[in-house]
Amino acid sequence: MRIPAAEASPAWQRQLSGAVRNPATLLKRLGLEPTHLPGANTGHVLFEVRVPEAYLSRIAPNTPNDPLLRQVLPLGEEALTPSGFVNDPLEEADHRPVKGLIHKYAGRVLLIASPTCAINCRYCFRRHFPYADNAPSRAQWQEALDYLRQDPSIHEAILSGGDPLAASDRQLAWLTGEIEAIPHIKRLRIHTRLPVVIPDRIDDALLAWLSTTRLQKVMVLHINHANEIDQTVVDACARLKKAGVTLLNQSVLLRGVNDNVAMLATLSERLFEAGVLPYYLHVLDPVQGAAHFDVPDIEARALVSELRNHLPGFLMPRLVREIPGEGSKTPL
Ligand code: SF4
Repeated sequence: MRIPAAEASPAWQRQLSGAVRNPATLLKRLGLEPTHLPGANTGHVLFEVRVPEAYLSRIAPNTPNDPLLRQVLPLGEEALTPSGFVNDPLEEADHRPVKGLIHKYAGRVLLIASPTCAINCRYCFRRHFPYADNAPSRAQWQEALDYLRQDPSIHEAILSGGDPLAASDRQLAWLTGEIEAIPHIKRLRIHTRLPVVIPDRIDDALLAWLSTTRLQKVMVLHINHANEIDQTVVDACARLKKAGVTLLNQSVLLRGVNDNVAMLATLSERLFEAGVLPYYLHVLDPVQGAAHFDVPDIEARALVSELRNHLPGFLMPRLVREIPGEGSKTPL
């Protein structure tokens, strides 16, 4: 695979570095009252605010309960410490045999391809992840790649993060080239929110390496609400599909964002219009700082049961929970 030459600064990287990273600016840009500021500052200290312009443009102004705003605005509630909500809810620390690699499930391995994200989602289960300890250098990547080379039962490499597409195309093309040289690896799966958050990320440089790999390509987008999918996202999805990428979506069921049947049905319909199949609807991982997003299981089951009355089967996401130590996601 040809590694692209280092490029000065593609448009998506400029958007990434220009993201709003200050609660006062976020409130001001959206015409919100300064009364929200003390709570926003409290949450920001725990997990900094980060919202790129392309996402900000889809948030309705003067609307404190906007479902997209709720995903990115820090709140004072994040400082609460309800029992059962912890820093590492999936106990990933127990599954890191080498730096930058998580091996939880048979046949597939997750690589932390980037320690950063384009957006900071308040409900993120990795909001306390020790990225600084898991950002391998090029030499340390060889250790992770050796792990893949030495285990022929591994058929799928999953690029995760942070957001893997926050890494440069040069880095991703190199990593993909190393992975595709391992004969027993068949699939490359990329979990990302960047095509939604900064659709310009799906540019020619990315498509150049992605479309030429021999690996089967699956991209799992993380979209929680239909308002996240505007025409720029639809166009980005079309470019990915043209490059031979299978597009799936996983959402998190979030209080105040998508916890009603009409919103979930509209999300599935809108995803399909964009060429993306709904895949999982996760209940919230009990991460410290996100308890205010929690929807109890009994309510989640009732929502999904009612959703079946509104959608064809192929548009129904599977309601699941990730339980530490289990060999796969657990259906509810
Ligand atoms: S993009 Fe994904 S990893 Fe990054 S903050 Fe959002 S949920 Fe977490």
